[in-house]
Amino acid sequence: MTNKKKINPKKPKFSPYWIYGIIIAVFLTMQLFSGSNFQDASPTTPSQFMSYLRNGDVEKVEIVNRREAKVYLTAAAEQTEIHKKSKPSSLLPSATRLPNYKFEFGDLQNFEDDISKVINEENLDPLPKVEYKTEQNLWGDFLIGLLPFILLIGVWIFIMRRMSGGAGGGGGSQIFNIGKSKAKLFDENTEVKTTFKDVAGLEGAKEEVQEIVDFLKNPEKYTSLGGKIPKGALLVGSPGTGKTLLAKAVAGEAQVPFFSLSGSDFVEMFVGVGASRVRDLFKQAKEKSPAIIFIDEIDAIGRARGKNAMSGSNDERENTLNQLLTEMDGFGTNTNVIVLAATNRADILDKALMRAGRFDRQIFVDLPDVRERKEIFEVHLRPLKKAKDLDVDFLAKQTPGFSGADIANVCNEAALIAARQGKKAVDKQDFLDAVDRIVGGLEKKNKIMSVAEKKAIAFHEAGHATVSWMLEHAAPLVKVTIVPRGRSLGAAWYLPEERLIVHPEQMLDEMCAALGGRAAEKVIFDRISTGALSDLEKVTKQARAMVTIYGLSEKVGNLTYYDSSGQNEYGFTKPYSEKTAELIDKEISDIIEEQYQRAIKLLEENRDKLTLLAEVLLEKEVIFKDNLEKIFGKRPFEKKEMVEDKKAEEKVEIIEEKKKLDNTEEE
Ligand code: ADP
Ligand code: ZN
Repeated sequence: MTNKKKINPKKPKFSPYWIYGIIIAVFLTMQLFSGSNFQDASPTTPSQFMSYLRNGDVEKVEIVNRREAKVYLTAAAEQTEIHKKSKPSSLLPSATRLPNYKFEFGDLQNFEDDISKVINEENLDPLPKVEYKTEQNLWGDFLIGLLPFILLIGVWIFIMRRMSGGAGGGGGSQIFNIGKSKAKLFDENTEVKTTFKDVAGLEGAKEEVQEIVDFLKNPEKYTSLGGKIPKGALLVGSPGTGKTLLAKAVAGEAQVPFFSLSGSDFVEMFVGVGASRVRDLFKQAKEKSPAIIFIDEIDAIGRARGKNAMSGSNDERENTLNQLLTEMDGFGTNTNVIVLAATNRADILDKALMRAGRFDRQIFVDLPDVRERKEIFEVHLRPLKKAKDLDVDFLAKQTPGFSGADIANVCNEAALIAARQGKKAVDKQDFLDAVDRIVGGLEKKNKIMSVAEKKAIAFHEAGHATVSWMLEHAAPLVKVTIVPRGRSLGAAWYLPEERLIVHPEQMLDEMCAALGGRAAEKVIFDRISTGALSDLEKVTKQARAMVTIYGLSEKVGNLTYYDSSGQNEYGFTKPYSEKTAELIDKEISDIIEEQYQRAIKLLEENRDKLTLLAEVLLEKEVIFKDNLEKIFGKRPFEKKEMVEDKKAEEKVEIIEEKKKLDNTEEE
């Protein structure tokens, strides 16, 4: 029987189904051997029994558990017509005699009294015996006894399943894998389709990882000259810039075993598991070397140690990190295992991780520029059915500041929009709609807005546009809209220059432009609104930074309260005196007030143009740079077209207007 194999004691393989099996087996056995279930004692009533007793038919009465009576008839009575049917039968031959009748009496005392009364009255011979017995319900008792164990085992199995993540694998065997690494292994048997071709742009980063692949493929080439192969490389960059993609491509290209996991895979609710998983991971990798280990989101474990001394939960993470460091130190350069890790928060990583000999290479994965965006578009346009005249250059220009993931999203969204409208191919307009949607959320065509509100928003936006047009250092405008989207009621898009250092007048001009919205409301309606919340937030932050961080305020002086080491995380103590605090507050509000007055003055001088612009905006809802040029003429300080300077063009900044605070928003 197959059963025999399973129970083979040499290889005990635990399965929760065994428990069910055992329970069923026990149940059946009980059914078969207890016999009691097959007794067929006829039911009767106490009064009937009394009449049998009077007749002298009863040989014995068994009182079971003080509640039930079992009646045994005399041999003679059993033959009579009335009792014939009561003859007990059993499927199994039973050694003990079986009762003929059974019934439940109410009160034992009364019942005994009744019996002795009948016996005394009738002078019966032979005297019927009365016996007392306690019968146990074996099956029920057994079950009750078993229940705690079943519960315990059930809970245990449940916890074990939970602990090991419930992923695949056979039944309870996961229990033994808790300390094993959860890395996914890609080797020659698993097909990884991603190659460097799928990664558009990122030339520099690609080159560096390619070099790593090369290290693993031809280590002698490098070591013969005495060089050491790096142990790790850290991919650093904003989310969605293609770090994971790059690592996948490495797996596809390297043709060496590739272990992929996320930093959070080490973390478990049990102490020591993380460290043991790290150990296991490195052991596996060494066995398969040359190999690559890829740890995504390494900040989950690699965060600087010992900062949150207050919470004990950290210890586990620290242990894990320590183990990782030890392992990285432990394997020599000749083991041919290279660790790749990705993070978007290189600043919070523990310094020890970046030390030479660990992740000694940092590969920066930047947001793509126009040319790279075009390449990324081309990658993601491949599977789409696009209109013939689709201009990819145009798309790339329309998406400054987008990451690779954003672009992938735009392409997908555009296809969905086109499909919704029943088009045969995805065209330019679909892409533009997709861009708008991704930037600002879903367009709310039916958002209810009164005419007065709409007018206020138009003037507010026109105020931003006018002020930024008039100021030399303010960012040039790209687009202004008063179409409500998501939570914002309107938006002005700017194209800030990428500056490495910023001068105070530039900051002040930007603040003035940001205050232009509220200033316009004040100038036109002589009434301000809550619509400037995000403007004020931005301006306040900037002014505070000028005073307390960059040392740009004359009164406070050339000092900074910025702490790059982030030691004073909780800010228990202010690093300055109360008096300085007052001075700082005063400076901040002075700076902001000055710029506000400047914006008001500017707008008052250009009131006619502002009004004109707002009217155009009300009519068209969306306006571009050209419309502004028509009203204001060419911008006086327009920089010479930024030729060839690819870095200058980046990042559109969007200034949104929020009507109220987020949490009091509509719907
Ligand atoms: P990260 O790990 O940096 O957060 P991912 O690598 O997960 O970002 O990128 C998410 C998606 O964005 C990828 O699956 C890919 O579709 C797209 N993507 C990002 N960068 C690029 C790129 N350079 N070329 C092509 N696609 C990209
Ligand atoms: Zn505004």
